[in-house]
Amino acid sequence: MDIEQTNSVETPESQEIEDQEKPPCILWTGSLKKTPIVRFRAEALTNDPHLHKVGTKYKMCFKMVDAGSSLVRTILSSHGFQEVHPISRNFNVMWTGPLRSTSVLTNLTKFQRINHFPKSSVLGQKDLLYKNIQNLQLKHRNHRFDFIPPSFVLPDEYNQFSRVISKDQGPWIVKPVSSCQGHGIQLINSLSQISRKDKLLVSRYIQNPLLIDGLKFDIRLYVLVTSYDPLTIYLFKEGITRFATRKYNLTKENMNNRFVHLTNYSVNKKSASFVSCRNPHVEDYGSKWSMSALLNYLKKNGKDTATLMSKIEDVIIKTIISAEGTIALASKSMLAHRKNCFEIYGFDILIDENMKPWMLEVNLSPSLTCDAPLDLKIKANVVADALTITGVECKDPCERQIKGGCTTSETRPCQARNRSFAERLEIFEGVKDEEERSGGYIRIFPREDTWKRYGSLLTNTSLNQALALHLYPEKAVVRESSTYEPQQQVPAYECQLPPLKQTVRRYQEMTRKVSRVAREVRQEIEKPVLVAGSRRPSNTSEKCHHRRREPSQDLNKQPDDLRPRVLCSHHASAGSVQVSEDLLKARFESMKQQEEALLKRRSIEVSNIVAGFSSIYKQAFGETKLL
Ligand code: ADP
Repeated sequence: MDIEQTNSVETPESQEIEDQEKPPCILWTGSLKKTPIVRFRAEALTNDPHLHKVGTKYKMCFKMVDAGSSLVRTILSSHGFQEVHPISRNFNVMWTGPLRSTSVLTNLTKFQRINHFPKSSVLGQKDLLYKNIQNLQLKHRNHRFDFIPPSFVLPDEYNQFSRVISKDQGPWIVKPVSSCQGHGIQLINSLSQISRKDKLLVSRYIQNPLLIDGLKFDIRLYVLVTSYDPLTIYLFKEGITRFATRKYNLTKENMNNRFVHLTNYSVNKKSASFVSCRNPHVEDYGSKWSMSALLNYLKKNGKDTATLMSKIEDVIIKTIISAEGTIALASKSMLAHRKNCFEIYGFDILIDENMKPWMLEVNLSPSLTCDAPLDLKIKANVVADALTITGVECKDPCERQIKGGCTTSETRPCQARNRSFAERLEIFEGVKDEEERSGGYIRIFPREDTWKRYGSLLTNTSLNQALALHLYPEKAVVRESSTYEPQQQVPAYECQLPPLKQTVRRYQEMTRKVSRVAREVRQEIEKPVLVAGSRRPSNTSEKCHHRRREPSQDLNKQPDDLRPRVLCSHHASAGSVQVSEDLLKARFESMKQQEEALLKRRSIEVSNIVAGFSSIYKQAFGETKLL
């Protein structure tokens, strides 16, 4: 049910916005439902002017740091958000690659959102992930954590591993601890095949993967965490099934054939046998399927997909809980506000022939590249719905400066605050609110059943306990012994995303938009501008210099913000210019440099977007010329 239908309090402002914005792209949250937040829509890619209004009206901004996702950039821009320079502090959303420095977290204002939690590396780094799960197993022996293959962290556990491999030649799979996209991975069955010094994770190779048409596959699932204290985990209903491109076999000759043993898209797209699906109406053809297509296929072949999904939920919840203590503590000490961070994790799950899911790894920055219609359909919703759940407040980020900075309570780390009853209530109601706008995500923790089963594994229990009591009064009892029992009532994971017909229309409109923007930028760059102060030339083509256009603002004044500025189409004419030619030339020179840098950045952005989406366009509609 739409939150705006049930919860909206008719303030004059809300009425005005509701009237203007059709379909609605503002939701109301907070204890009195008076805080407007943006409802992000994947359809925004169609350049719907209604959706654009929201960001423009509130002058909202985003910044990208070490992250090249054109999908995120396009979604935010399509909602009217402006991109600011990576060093600007005036932003509503910051989208970054791996969080290299946590100093940014302590200075955030209440409404600002960033797409990583501090210390998430305990999930993303393969050795730390394995160690944390192992520790949890040691602490909770009545729970099973055998969803991660037996592993050794080298060089620390070199001696133990050498003893094991002398008796059990595997094969074992060796991975550099901080790598991705299949880099540096090899299968081994002898110790001599690896270096003694490198930091590696060696895991038992799962030899009996479930095969479809003789091919190995894994599933990429998207897991959203909006808070670690209390812990709230969402799973996106749809995922991507990624196939290897050569028939599976374990013969010695094929041990090093990456197209047989690795299911990474980045590896298999280089294979001559990679099949891309050009038809956007088909989800179970080629080397990438949707997860629901896989579940339908398995169901048709007599497999119990409800139990499978329940086991996958079990894997995800336990994995996140293995990091909960560390991340909750780091968040308390580093974040100014408990809602500043959210994170979308990419879980890679392998299913074996006994329908047991194995957790291979957790990606902190799952790929949002859209090389096929299926990618766009899923990932655009993954991003848009995550931003909606997170609750991006409609606020002009420059207000934080105009009003003289943050208030004392805003700058205090959340750790220093003793939460009042009202604050706790706000947190709990906030979780309920989040669920109402969860879109394609399903909250898998806390849920009545999952709280009972996993509540006892949490380190930070008080707020979690109170939340569970708030959500499920009388029923929030944690079971002491929790051996795994499959859920009878798993949510409907076979649910489909919006119909494909709409998606196809979206590609067309989006690519048209991208082409138009690219054309505009090209024209902007190539436009000849008359140099002010020169005599009006009789022959324009001879005397015109190819310079950037003069902006209307005072040239000596620095912009108070790094927000991209709209270039003015004002042309200086010789007759009207009264200042000396030298001064004007100097001013032009400095503006030229600034504007060239700006235009360069804009055209790079546009070319990234075009490169990303033109391949989708070709796959969906053939070789029609894009630009
Ligand atoms: P990367 O971060 O480089 O992608 P992964 O841990 O995801 O590394 O492994 C890459 C691929 O290797 C997986 O997609 C999967 O196909 C295969 N793989 C990884 N670990 C195992 C394992 N223990 N057993 C079988 N296959 C594995």
